[in-house]
Amino acid sequence: MRDPDYRTFWDALPHISIMRSRPDLQEAFRHEYREEIVGLLSWLHRLGVLWGATSIHPSPPDGCDLCSAQLDKLQLFIDGATQSGMWANMCPKCFLEEGHSIGWGKGQLYLNIGNGDWRLVAGGDPDAREPSDE
Ligand SMILES: [Zn+2]
Repeated sequence: MRDPDYRTFWDALPHISIMRSRPDLQEAFRHEYREEIVGLLSWLHRLGVLWGATSIHPSPPDGCDLCSAQLDKLQLFIDGATQSGMWANMCPKCFLEEGHSIGWGKGQLYLNIGNGDWRLVAGGDPDAREPSDE
């Protein structure tokens, strides 16, 4: 087992992440940096960002409240507080400029899973549990 190398992992991550045409390289990267990936996700969980219960947005917005960008063309949107304290549905660009943070009570991050559905993937209620299938 080698020592974790977060710097090399971090430098290569943006390049390998966009290589959708090379799933073999992505798989090799996920293998090579498995310790860094688990470590990063674990830290983000301890920070209160990741691994809360997931859910599907019951009534997703059509557009960004701040710039009116059409959300169905985007990968992510944030339902969260702005720096002024106002709450808004924000495209990622507006979130970076005006938003507060991802975390319960501040901002929920939704992933576009197609067909108009959005899955809560970060910043959810840490005490929430997925409904059981019973
Ligand atoms: Zn926007």
